[in-house]
Amino acid sequence: MFHYMMPTNLYFGKDCLEQSGDILTKYGKKALLVTGKHSAKVNGSQQAVTDTLEKLGISWVLFDDVESNPSIATVRRAADFGKAEGADFVIAIGGGSPMDAGKVIALLCTNDLDDTALFTGPYKKPLPIITVPTTSGTGSEVTEYAILTNIHAGTKQSVASPMIFPSASFCDPSFTMGILPKVTIDTAIDALSHAVEGYMATTSTPISDSWAEEAIRFIGMHLTALDQEISYAIREDLMYGSTLAGIVIAQTGTTLIHGMGYPLTYYKGLSHGRANGILFPHYMKLMEETMPDKVDKIWELLDVDGLEEFTDIIKELMPDTVALTEEEIAKFTALTMPTGAVKHTSYHVTPELVADIYRKLKN
Ligand code: NAP
Ligand code: FE
Repeated sequence: MFHYMMPTNLYFGKDCLEQSGDILTKYGKKALLVTGKHSAKVNGSQQAVTDTLEKLGISWVLFDDVESNPSIATVRRAADFGKAEGADFVIAIGGGSPMDAGKVIALLCTNDLDDTALFTGPYKKPLPIITVPTTSGTGSEVTEYAILTNIHAGTKQSVASPMIFPSASFCDPSFTMGILPKVTIDTAIDALSHAVEGYMATTSTPISDSWAEEAIRFIGMHLTALDQEISYAIREDLMYGSTLAGIVIAQTGTTLIHGMGYPLTYYKGLSHGRANGILFPHYMKLMEETMPDKVDKIWELLDVDGLEEFTDIIKELMPDTVALTEEEIAKFTALTMPTGAVKHTSYHVTPELVADIYRKLKN
């Protein structure tokens, strides 16, 4: 058997907020807007949201201090502000960081949770969550996950609950026009890793596979052009692909790439997409052993000859290397092994295997 769930009302396309923002009246009279420090103010997204709210007579307050890979302290600060202001719902505008932060802030506005319970629940219903993605990467606009930096665990960890699926998401690719090449590359590779990992996961389903293939095709079409000037039509494909890939991981969860990537972000400062990217070829090598048919399908969808060409493309986009000490390798391996990501990987993952991949990242 399999189960499929995607409860988010999804609006996709240029000016979707202007056209369909009226539904926001359903969620209350006062919104807490959650953004990063800068980008939402210059890419048109914050203005489009506030114009819509003002037209509808919904008041709003702004928390614009979410950092990349948001911390527990930040979401607590924002939730205290939202509660003090009596916000009825949360509108998170930005990349995965503000969207994930917004989901947890909505939870903290209605739940008393210490730093342990924050990650485990149980949770009472959060405030309604609306998202407006401005990167084409995480798929957070259609997932039940929020990833926080957890200083107690010494890594990044997910808050996961069907209750934090956004109630509605407005995906307007025009907000992504000004993204710098590095962020375009990192986020596209994150999205591609979602589609591929979901496709290969032990938890994949016929429906998630259909979306995964479509996501791989849409992102794959532009894989070798991510470092060039990107037209609106391509931005639209990248956002469509990343949203589909989000629907995939909402069903399947992520696998070894994500599990091994979090310590690289936490300790080595690599962005999420870059950490995934440098692990990607190593993961595909494992998958060639256990899922050769699906791997062939991926090469076909990406229009590459095989692992060697794929590795070259990733290396060209992300020439990064990470030289880890044996002590770091042991620590990162210990952090990776207990994760759900390892459980969902279609390979017999041992600590030796994980350590060996970490060791190989120096080249
Ligand atoms: P991000 O950390 O949200 O943003 C990265 C950078 O891009 C920031 O400097 C941001 O600036 C800037 N930016 C965002 N939108 C922009 C735009 N339209 N134009 C120009 N610059 C823009 O990056 P992300 O890759 O989207 O999100 C990564 C986070 O999501 C990680 O914490 C990761 O673990 C998480 N994630 C979540 C899921 C999920 O299912 N929930 C899945 C995968 C990853 P500002 O700070 O000024 O906004
Ligand atoms: Fe991701």
